[in-house]
Amino acid sequence: MSKRIIVTVDGFSSCGKSTLARALARELGYVYIDSGAMYRAITLYFLRNNLNWNEPDQVSEALKNIELHFEPNPTTLKSEMHLNGENVEYIIRDIVVAEKVSEVAAVKEIREFAVAAQQRMGEKKGIVMDGRDIGTTVFPNAEVKIFMVADEAVRVERRFAEMYNKNPNITIEEVKANIELRDYIDSNREVSPLRKADDAIVLDNTHLTEKEQLQVALEIVKPHLV
Ligand code: C5P
Repeated sequence: MSKRIIVTVDGFSSCGKSTLARALARELGYVYIDSGAMYRAITLYFLRNNLNWNEPDQVSEALKNIELHFEPNPTTLKSEMHLNGENVEYIIRDIVVAEKVSEVAAVKEIREFAVAAQQRMGEKKGIVMDGRDIGTTVFPNAEVKIFMVADEAVRVERRFAEMYNKNPNITIEEVKANIELRDYIDSNREVSPLRKADDAIVLDNTHLTEKEQLQVALEIVKPHLV
């Protein structure tokens, strides 16, 4: 049996991190963890309960009442985000959540809560986790760190196609503005800003198919499995 390691996949919004991370996990027989889904679910909780993430008392109270876990969908077997027992995988992709998630994810206490949960999920290794700070903060000692990049126009197109399927009222301008806003906030926040870890390998998938990017990632990972 090959060695169980931790693979981190970080990068800007809509670079295809989750597509690659999920495929890689499947290929390796590892668990895939979508750390962004956790910040999205926390954001949903704040929005639904009309809470202010800039009010420390409201944040600590909210965090006491939030339980997050991933569960495989019985049909697709894809792991899905559950918030206090409810499957929120679909609703957390909504633009209403996307518009606020980076503000929520910039709050120190909220990050500490999410990072601690993510680190527990990696205790036994054998995981591929994607996000913004996984290689820098969550698993600074991960065996393999991938930092994904892609041209902005390509990222906007991809995310628009994905969101349009669920919400035909969405415009490409809205999607572009949201990606730019999130990248700006994520890169400029005080706590764990989005950065390439020094030892991360850059994977530019602007001109790669899903299959090709998986091949590239597997070549990066393979030497670490022996
Ligand atoms: O990956 P996804 O686009 O779903 O992430 C949503 C948001 O969650 C990001 O824009 C970012 O603000 C936040 N996030 C984060 N750290 C992570 C993963 C996501 O701050 N590790």
